[in-house]
Amino acid sequence: MERSQVSARILLLEDDPAIAGTVAFALQREGFAVDHVLLVGAAREAAARARPALAILDVGLPDGNGLDLCRAWRQSGDDALRVLPVLMLTARAEELDRVIGLELGADDYLTKPFSPRELVARVRALLRRASLAPAATPAAASGLFVLDADGQRIAFAGQWLALTRLEYGLLRALLRAPGRIRSRESLLDEVWGAEGDATDRTVDTHVKTLRAKLRAVRPELEPIATHRGMGYALDIAPR
Ligand code: CA
Repeated sequence: MERSQVSARILLLEDDPAIAGTVAFALQREGFAVDHVLLVGAAREAAARARPALAILDVGLPDGNGLDLCRAWRQSGDDALRVLPVLMLTARAEELDRVIGLELGADDYLTKPFSPRELVARVRALLRRASLAPAATPAAASGLFVLDADGQRIAFAGQWLALTRLEYGLLRALLRAPGRIRSRESLLDEVWGAEGDATDRTVDTHVKTLRAKLRAVRPELEPIATHRGMGYALDIAPR
């Protein structure tokens, strides 16, 4: 968990090169990975593809408005985007916008000019809040999973699952960040560790048996999504 916090991916939508450069530098220095885009369209695409942990959105962009993008995410059918922490960057002239920004579902805002230090502090606070709010995550919100870490067991739709140790570890790893894509490599690291000669295929095999056990409980749901070429994510969706 700590490691994924440090390398959390942040989407930055800002068309002013000086501000973008300052923000990106401040975040990268703190160990964050930054995807910088200049257009609303690019931000929409990057958010769906790269699954950022947080988005920083400017208000006025050449092809639209960061506030509209935030509102679209909050109303989206994509659980991860609906709860994606959003920090709005507003200009002084946009006093009204910043109020509207919070009404539209932004989590916080900063008025330009701001200090990079202040920005990093806000980002950290939002990420911490998001990680402490499992009820805001897609799978937990749907109330379908219960993790009993002491008993090393997981319930799905009110039924305790009969899982092997590795299936349990795998599902627990996915539950930790619902909606976020976990690569096979990172799952191998976390679940299998130094153990034996596990490969990507080993992960696939265990996902398959895990899916069969989930399907036995709720045949109409497919909670583990395959993201081609990237990995797996917990995403409650109809099968
Ligand atoms: Ca701008």
